[in-house]
Amino acid sequence: MIDFKNVTKVYDPKIVALKDVNVHIDKGEFVFVLGHSGAGKSTLVRCINVLERPESGRILFHGENLLELKGKALRAQRRKISMIFQSFNLLDQRTALENICFPLELAGVRGKEARRKAAQLLETVGLPDKADAYPVQLSGGQKQRIAIARALASDPEVLLCDEATSALDPQTTESILALLQKINRERGITVILITHQMSVIEQICHRVAILDQGTVAEIGTVEDVFSNPASPAGRRLVS
Ligand code: ADP
Repeated sequence: MIDFKNVTKVYDPKIVALKDVNVHIDKGEFVFVLGHSGAGKSTLVRCINVLERPESGRILFHGENLLELKGKALRAQRRKISMIFQSFNLLDQRTALENICFPLELAGVRGKEARRKAAQLLETVGLPDKADAYPVQLSGGQKQRIAIARALASDPEVLLCDEATSALDPQTTESILALLQKINRERGITVILITHQMSVIEQICHRVAILDQGTVAEIGTVEDVFSNPASPAGRRLVS
């Protein structure tokens, strides 16, 4: 579905953020992007919706090179690739419902229809009673839920999450991850999530099973298995 082909991105002055990157992401995958600060995670993700333009290479979306698209054609593909951020990026002067309506209005959806869809999305993210709340009246987790609802308003195929849980406490992080997993599973939306929080990975891959010659050699939390593999197959995998 998404293919990076020899993608290189260089920022002035000569900072190579991505170097000949080749990545393939399938439809419906939930992919983590991990790495130290400055490793190029944000750049990689921002290239997917062409917020950054690489100097060379191709970024294929359903086989079409996004870097060759312009104007209306590029906007149409971008609508299929939504993004949420650490800082939520909600409009403070708009209520939760109006924030969710915003991308619908930009796409020319009529007011009543936009509000109906936004109300449905409020249900999806578990905040049906917050339609009239302003961002300042919402907690961090609630703001991120509104941002997720807004991101879903354009019926995207891909949801990019740039450190989307990094500003949240562990419990709220867990609930947002559960919501993202639900969206991934139920809507088949491909989720690509940047994080530096190892706890995030432990929560999504809550348990891991190691198979060996058709048997389950070992099963446990990611942390347990990876820090202290009990089986020969587990040790081979993590060594
Ligand atoms: P990460 O998300 O892993 O922290 P980034 O993709 O943000 O990494 O950055 C990769 C490299 O590119 C870093 O060295 C960073 O300083 C640099 N960089 C990122 N954005 C810009 C920019 N707009 N201008 C110049 N350098 C940038």
